[in-house]
Amino acid sequence: MTIVEVMDKLLAVNGPLCHSNSDMLKELIPFNGIKVITSARVKGYARGALACETLDGETTIQCDSVILAVGYDSNRSLYEDIRFDVPQAYLLGDARRVANIMYAIWDAFEVANGI
Ligand SMILES: Cc1cc2nc3c(=O)[nH]c(=O)nc-3n(C[C@H](O)[C@H](O)[C@H](O)COP(=O)(O)OP(=O)(O)OC[C@H]3O[C@@H](n4cnc5c(N)ncnc54)[C@H](O)[C@@H]3O)c2cc1C
Repeated sequence: MTIVEVMDKLLAVNGPLCHSNSDMLKELIPFNGIKVITSARVKGYARGALACETLDGETTIQCDSVILAVGYDSNRSLYEDIRFDVPQAYLLGDARRVANIMYAIWDAFEVANGI
């Protein structure tokens, strides 16, 4: 099994993460013999090979399954629709910036404090 990551390290975005999650993941990956390729962008899949662009040039990974886990984008459309129609509208949580539950709760705390 191989993890292909476009950033220069795993878990590079949306942090800081809870240590119990990140430390466990960092230990489980080598423990299970999973190979990690960082700074690599997946370009496509054809005839049983995943094509990747790495810092050392193009490479292919032979595989019969590919799992995409490439993250989420914020969707602010509801906020943009109503923000000028109601006296107070706040954007928070994943709609403001995709992160995790801790950040969503912090956002809510800040907003609630200001009301
Ligand atoms: C697979 C997965 C695993 C995750 N695991 C973790 C984890 O282990 N730990 C962690 O901290 N974070 C985790 N996260 C991230 C975490 O779930 C989010 O950061 C957090 O839920 C964001 O909270 P939120 O309230 O901003 O948005 P959400 O939890 O997405 O809540 C928004 C709600 O609004 C509703 N909604 C949307 N549009 C409308 C509308 N027009 N009218 C009414 N309701 C609407 C949605 O249905 C949803 O219920 C995970 C996320 C995913 C996808």
